Amino acid sequence: MSTCGPVDLPDPALVRPATARALPAHLTLLYRGPLASCDYDCPYCPFAKRRDSPETLRADRAALERFTDWVATRAEEAPGTRFSVLFTPWGEGLTRSWYRRAMVRLSRLPHVERVAIQTNLSGRTAWLADCDRDSVALWTTYHPGEVSHGRFLDKARELSATGIRFSVGVVGQPEHLEAAVRMRADLPEGVYLWVNAAEGATYTDAEAASWQEIDPHFHYSRLPHPSRGLPCRTGESVLSVNGDGDVRRCHFVDTPLGNLYDGSFADRLGPAPCPLTSCDCHIGYVHLETLDLYDVFRGGVIERIPARTGGW
Ligand code: SF4
Ligand code: SF4
Repeated sequence: MSTCGPVDLPDPALVRPATARALPAHLTLLYRGPLASCDYDCPYCPFAKRRDSPETLRADRAALERFTDWVATRAEEAPGTRFSVLFTPWGEGLTRSWYRRAMVRLSRLPHVERVAIQTNLSGRTAWLADCDRDSVALWTTYHPGEVSHGRFLDKARELSATGIRFSVGVVGQPEHLEAAVRMRADLPEGVYLWVNAAEGATYTDAEAASWQEIDPHFHYSRLPHPSRGLPCRTGESVLSVNGDGDVRRCHFVDTPLGNLYDGSFADRLGPAPCPLTSCDCHIGYVHLETLDLYDVFRGGVIERIPARTGGW
């Protein structure tokens, strides 16, 4: 159909609301939609073997596609801004085609520096061949009770062989220690294995030392970080977005900053101290300006891959 001749152009004020306001030179978005189901059955997780209704899955898919469209159209709407996106679903996203498609699409956009997703790596990995390998990455977690050593290791070797950036993590439950030591020993050289302190767990110095031997950065995770009043990059260059486009500074502070899709969030961007007593999740405290984690993970902040400065 020809587009020649007079056309009714929409009011520019409606097309470019507050998003016309300048965004930072680099914006990291932590996205979490309605999906809350998983194919694994980890005893420490409320989403274990949960199933989403068809309506929830449809809503999750539509929300993710809307979010992906928004990021894609920032090439024209916010040409000075580069993006990193980390998908942090409650459950497992990569068993759903729309997460794989979103990863492929975002990885190929020139203004997206990095796109990563937290995953248990249970699904196939062939789809990654369609991604731009310079920008796609995986934050994988090895759950020893749910998958055999050999099966997880085969997947990790596959990723390494095809040049996909990824980290491997283990939840620091006492019963996981032996499996974590073995996985660390067998993972390809250069693959970082991180350890998250188990929720609510306390570690004696001797216990912590065992985990620290596996992950030299375990000491960051061992105890919650006091954070009230401290400068944190969230709310300024890092934002949390949910399926409705509601924007908050991070996943842990409930105060809304506005909405992504009407642009109202942009007016509220700026430096602000953390309002919470402490921050105990890596996807939060990695952005605390009082820690040196942007240096430790330079080039791999969202997928949790440390800068290679001579061993891990
Ligand atoms: S793989 Fe992750 S989301 Fe799934 S049950 Fe285990 S901890 Fe929960
Ligand atoms: S320190 Fe943690 S809880 Fe506080 S604002 Fe930053 S990410 Fe959020």
